[in-house]
Amino acid sequence: MERSDVIIIGGGAVGLSCAYYLNQAGYNVTILDGGTADKKSSCSWGNSGMVVPSHIVPLAAPGVIKKGLKWLLDPESPFSIEFKPSLEMISWLWKFRRATNPNHVKAGAKVFRELGFTSRSLYLELGQEMDFGLESRGILMLCNSEKVLEEEFAISAMARELGMEGVDLDQRGVKAIETGMDTAILGGVHYPMDCNINPVLFLDVMQKYLRAGGVKIQYNTMIHGFQTNNGEIESVETKQGKWKANQFVLSAGSVAGKLAGIIGLKMPMMAGKGYSVTMESPVKKPALPAILIEARIASTPMGPNWRFGGTMTVTDSDRKINIRKLKAMLKSVQDYYPEYDLSWTEGLDPWVGLRPLSADGLPYIGPFKEYPNLIAATGHAMQGISLSPVTGKLVRDIISKKETGFDMDMLSPDRF
Ligand SMILES: Cc1cc2nc3c(=O)[nH]c(=O)nc-3n(C[C@H](O)[C@H](O)[C@H](O)COP(=O)(O)OP(=O)(O)OC[C@H]3O[C@@H](n4cnc5c(N)ncnc54)[C@H](O)[C@@H]3O)c2cc1C
Repeated sequence: MERSDVIIIGGGAVGLSCAYYLNQAGYNVTILDGGTADKKSSCSWGNSGMVVPSHIVPLAAPGVIKKGLKWLLDPESPFSIEFKPSLEMISWLWKFRRATNPNHVKAGAKVFRELGFTSRSLYLELGQEMDFGLESRGILMLCNSEKVLEEEFAISAMARELGMEGVDLDQRGVKAIETGMDTAILGGVHYPMDCNINPVLFLDVMQKYLRAGGVKIQYNTMIHGFQTNNGEIESVETKQGKWKANQFVLSAGSVAGKLAGIIGLKMPMMAGKGYSVTMESPVKKPALPAILIEARIASTPMGPNWRFGGTMTVTDSDRKINIRKLKAMLKSVQDYYPEYDLSWTEGLDPWVGLRPLSADGLPYIGPFKEYPNLIAATGHAMQGISLSPVTGKLVRDIISKKETGFDMDMLSPDRF
């Protein structure tokens, strides 16, 4: 049986980032991933690639439930719940609802701010070492209704209070910086510190870098069990046999909660299904990445290409594509960029990804009390790309028994 210092369960953006920082610190690291080497089924592959320290409001925020219930009745809405009345989902929804209060948002905003700032700096450092399409041109929040624009201005005021740059813009202000395409909006906010990467490049470049540095990465290796002894994980079980290590990192994305459940650990998680469509070298594309707020769509010009990402369906694990929702998503882009023509996305293959959703919108990062050599690194929901580097660094600090400098209680996988 092989033995490593650290086994990482799941090699998406989070798992690879953990491997990077652990490898730098001299640990002998093995990544075991149940998916195929193209990594297309991981949520880290086809996402919008935004690195957003400006996103300080957790998913579980006041108004989300109300909006969600309203949207439930609309088959074309960007948000929905695939309600199969399992105990697991009811219990997750209950916890999620409890977290949607102003105190939690305030406390969560501070955590996201610290994590987001650190992760952005780490991306800038990593970008010196590897090319994964990092672009630091900021991100626009675009609004086409007065009420939503006011809400975005309120969020930008809160972000500025927390030290984040955020520029409120009227229609003319947006047009002055969005020079690639015409926009049909009322206004927006520009967050100049936000960046974007090409996530596919990130996965590929990181994987090559790690392998060259001695990290073993094994695909098609699904973990289905754990061997425990005296409050420690001894090995993980796969079809190909058992793998031993001193420490284990659980970064298996949306199924991490279920894996933890095998040994009786309670880390409530659901999957947040989303789609993306990528146009290769369209005739026109915007100059800046943007979030089209009312439509809940992320629009990212990525090198010569242009990607739309969106929709959030809370589900257990279903990957079926809802064509009606997808079409509605692609159509609503026109409300923001009138020059975009629906025919540009006709016939393109949509990608589907499952975001790992914690029950209060904050990630799970830290050791489990019951098995201290099992460290959770998951639950980042819509920010798994943004927060991959900082998560990797925190996991390295935890394993090396170093002070992290963060309030780890709020991130503990045992907090429910
Ligand atoms: C449409 C869309 C747009 C998005 N846009 C952004 C964005 O702009 N910015 C941002 O920050 N985030 C974004 N996200 C969210 C982001 O993609 C996720 O938070 C992130 O990819 C999660 O990374 P991960 O490594 O935790 O999980 P994953 O990437 O899903 O990786 C988990 C890995 O674990 C493996 N695995 C699963 N089970 C097992 C097992 N039993 N044994 C071994 N291996 C296993 C899987 O094969 C997979 O490779 C978006 C998501 C979607 C769907």
